[in-house]
Amino acid sequence: MLVLLFLAVLGSAQAQLLDVCLEDRVGLNSATKTAFAEELSILLEKTEWRLNCHPSAVRLAVRFSPPLRYASALGLAYRTGERIAPRLEVYLNTVLRSLNEVRAPSVVGRALARVAAHELVHFTFQRTDHDASGLLAERFPATQLAGADSRPFLLARKSAPR
Ligand SMILES: [Zn+2]
Repeated sequence: MLVLLFLAVLGSAQAQLLDVCLEDRVGLNSATKTAFAEELSILLEKTEWRLNCHPSAVRLAVRFSPPLRYASALGLAYRTGERIAPRLEVYLNTVLRSLNEVRAPSVVGRALARVAAHELVHFTFQRTDHDASGLLAERFPATQLAGADSRPFLLARKSAPR
């Protein structure tokens, strides 16, 4: 399951604050983390969220590599039965591979955030399916993932909370 995520506004018109606990297992440098946070803010513009490791926060781990079974995944959202669990992962090595030779912290941080935002949307909307385009597209062209333009990664309009 290829999944990226967003923040939760489930079913009701009332937005709730989404706490995201970022677990950096790869030692991102500060420039990369800054770019990550900036892009996440752009992509999650409609969601009230903050980085906060509250016990009930969504765990968003940045790891080096995905499980072997999903060797090409950029990120994953784990499931518990029918539910998408508040456990999301983003993988540095597969993201770097998709960026080819680009290693600029601004580009890497931005790409990681795009994958993270995708997984967060899976969780917040409890959606296991994908859209044809936008943030919940199943895959992203490398040129888009590395690109400065955030617009291809905004959530498609039809993806309203259910
Ligand atoms: Zn997905």
